[in-house]
Amino acid sequence: MAEQLALPLPDLTSLPRVGIPRTQRVYVNRNLKMSGIDWVGFDMDYTLAIYDQDQMDRLSIDATLDKLVARGWPAGIKDLPYNTGFPIRGLLIDKRLGHILKMDRYKVVQKGYHGMRALARDEIRSLYQSRKIRPATPRYYWIDTLYALSEVALFAGVIDGLEAQGAQVDYLKLFEDIRECVDEAHRDGTVVDRVLSNIGRFVRRDTLLAPTLHKLRSAGKRLFLLTNSQWSYTNELMRYLLGGAMPEYPSWRHYFDIVICAASKPAFFQERRPLMERDIEGRGSNGSHLRPASHLERGRVYEGGNLLDFERTLGASGDRVLYIGDHIYGDILRSKKESAWRTSMIIQEMEAEVAAHEASSDDLHALSEANARRDQLEDELRAHQALFKDLTRQIEAAVESGQTQAGVELEANRARVKRSVEKVRGLMRGLDAETMELEATVDRRFHPFWGSLMKESNEMSSFGDQVEAYACVYTSRVSNFLHYSPLQHFRSPRDLMPHEM
Ligand SMILES: [Mg+2]
Repeated sequence: MAEQLALPLPDLTSLPRVGIPRTQRVYVNRNLKMSGIDWVGFDMDYTLAIYDQDQMDRLSIDATLDKLVARGWPAGIKDLPYNTGFPIRGLLIDKRLGHILKMDRYKVVQKGYHGMRALARDEIRSLYQSRKIRPATPRYYWIDTLYALSEVALFAGVIDGLEAQGAQVDYLKLFEDIRECVDEAHRDGTVVDRVLSNIGRFVRRDTLLAPTLHKLRSAGKRLFLLTNSQWSYTNELMRYLLGGAMPEYPSWRHYFDIVICAASKPAFFQERRPLMERDIEGRGSNGSHLRPASHLERGRVYEGGNLLDFERTLGASGDRVLYIGDHIYGDILRSKKESAWRTSMIIQEMEAEVAAHEASSDDLHALSEANARRDQLEDELRAHQALFKDLTRQIEAAVESGQTQAGVELEANRARVKRSVEKVRGLMRGLDAETMELEATVDRRFHPFWGSLMKESNEMSSFGDQVEAYACVYTSRVSNFLHYSPLQHFRSPRDLMPHEM
């Protein structure tokens, strides 16, 4: 008789999505039940809007060079080559020495460049490993956004170019000037205007974005946009991303219940800034387009505001809000520390990172075998060394008691053990060289200069560490949520401590 199967219907939505390519999965640090989320908020730049990184870097470098020359840097820097493929997120700038560094999760520097020249292991050891460095001091600057990558490419390129011509470079001044000029290029509209004049060149339109937002809305979630960008830019960009995508939505604004521009994150999370409403129809009676607002309504556009008023006027309970952003500090860390908001981080590099990890699986397996083999050789070495010591004591005793023949035999024995010690040492050296070569091969597959974004040697990188600490989940793009149920229970892999493995 056929048995009746008890279908696990309530759990169907949380079955692992085996069919989703790894590059498009949502990865989970802390369990997140989407059924418990009422509000889903989005940052815009590098979150809803995925930029072409190389194009944006070139634009930013271009816009900045003129400003640097105007500040007295030699005009020749405009003709130098700048490698936009050089920087990654999570690097640390040493403004005093002109070095660019990558740290592991313990804030120990493991890789470094001066300009584009790799620092030798000895240089790194003597400069950064012999004492604890303090990344939060003014000497250092932490590169934690994609927006800041062009600053690193510029910094390295100018140092390289000027020093090749024998010039002395004031690294601190160079970096501060680059920082200020990049900001200026964004503030004075140079960058924004050029993006808007050819959006298709700088922004990748993701055709799955609209259906993703629609799916969340259909499940009863309310959506909000919370961006630091100005209204005019936001409007153009969002129209490009969502305009005309689905007939149910006459304009991009219809996807969102609340729209807040010029939000000044992270201050939005930390300070009680006033909420303003923008008059987008241009009917401002007193000539101003902004007026104070006391509550948030669908269909309107706001600026500024703050976390407390946001939650109070919407009746949104912090732990029922999921905020999706790309900036570890402004979007993720601050919202995590100042509020109970759940966080999802968009890391567009994850597609390349996961692909490199998959392509390295044989090498990573070989590396862990090499580690096990090294442990074994260390055991052998210790055993041989103990035997050597023991034989030495026996030889001394034989000499003292005048047992010449026994002494000779023991000497021969000891010489054999010594050869074994040397043989094991040789094997270890060979294995170390092999391991280093293998590690370098794996690193190059991730990134030609820095290796993996999230890892460093056997540890997490300092960037990976921050992602783990502050992002509940992370994924390469917003539309990856389309592959999952809007009621998905995102479960973290069970945490293992070293003694459990
Ligand atoms: Mg952003």
